Amino acid sequence: MQPHLFTPGPVSIPHEIRQRGAAPLVSHRSEPFFSLLEEISARLKRLLRAKEPPVLFPGSGTGALEALAANLIAPGDRVISFSCGAFGDRFREIAGRRGAEVIPADIPWGRGATPDDVKDALARSPDPAVVLFTHNETSTGAVTPLGECIAALPHDGPLVLVDAVSSLGALPCFPEEWGIDGLASCSQKGLLTPPGIAVAALSPRGWARAGSRPCPSYYFDLSLHRRFLEKERPQNPYTPPVTLLCSLAEALRFLEDFGFGKWFRLKARTAETFETACKAMGLPLFVEGPAFRSPAVTAVKVPGGKGKEMKHALETLGVEAAAGQGKEPSLLRVAHYSPGGWPELSLIAGSIYGAGKMCGLDLRPDFSEAAWNCWTREGE
Ligand SMILES: *Cc1c(COP(=O)(O)O)cnc(C)c1O
Repeated sequence: MQPHLFTPGPVSIPHEIRQRGAAPLVSHRSEPFFSLLEEISARLKRLLRAKEPPVLFPGSGTGALEALAANLIAPGDRVISFSCGAFGDRFREIAGRRGAEVIPADIPWGRGATPDDVKDALARSPDPAVVLFTHNETSTGAVTPLGECIAALPHDGPLVLVDAVSSLGALPCFPEEWGIDGLASCSQKGLLTPPGIAVAALSPRGWARAGSRPCPSYYFDLSLHRRFLEKERPQNPYTPPVTLLCSLAEALRFLEDFGFGKWFRLKARTAETFETACKAMGLPLFVEGPAFRSPAVTAVKVPGGKGKEMKHALETLGVEAAAGQGKEPSLLRVAHYSPGGWPELSLIAGSIYGAGKMCGLDLRPDFSEAAWNCWTREGE
């Protein structure tokens, strides 16, 4: 039996999106491919509300982060790295390996960064060359209010690089409006596509920085990718993942036809209903402040530290969720990227209840009432 995927990537995606990837192959130097890339670029620009076209290349989210570091960080740059979880720590490590002088700004796990955190970090280390943020910290389910945090930086100050791997497509993410100079993402989470495509979106300032010196990476040279995108017909410098790009075009069509704004509201309502079910069952949410809670990924604290046991019990029921990462192994994490509504919520909440029973947890059975009231509250 096909397992029900509730993992934060890859995610369960509509059949038509996967099927598009099975279409007969086209050459990446042919008109059908150029049109495909053109369509993807136009839709991604509308999703990001951006004028600059994002660059797409083979890779996962980590590859996109590495590309940002290779093109926008120079050895010796002072880099303030805000981290509130395992992925913030990863971006920090990537910047460090690029030779940056990394200044850690650790935010307690369970919330996102705030403008006050930014002011504190700047007071301790003024004039950094670069700052790093994670938009949606997938290891804890915490969102950082990027617009507010970036507004707390000096105007024309450090370059702002953002890991938007688990936010793009699932929650509002507007790099040009917020002042992000380099944004990294990929296909297999909010963009509802199989894994394998990395996305990098740069601001005019980011492009100027990237073009001001040779990129140490031959393959991840974003300026070269940009030049190919701006040829008379858009293309990639090297062979792109053609079949995945077919699926990505279909996924973006799906999201745009649904309505990006309406989709973001659906994700928020889905997450809130799931949070309500978990609380009613007796599973506390890891992120205490409602403003920081992610519409894409919810982390709950499993009593007795049984995060891994719960993940395994769910697996035996045919449901895939994620356990905790790094220093928070007792969590269970559930993602809300896939299309769906009440039936999917009932499936995951009911399965968690059953898995809890298998793990000997004392969960309350009457969570459906509270969840249903939350789901139907706004009457959408
Ligand atoms: C998933 C994820 C990554 C890593 O992505 P891969 O595609 O596994 O390389 C990085 N950052 C965040 C926030 C993520 O959720």
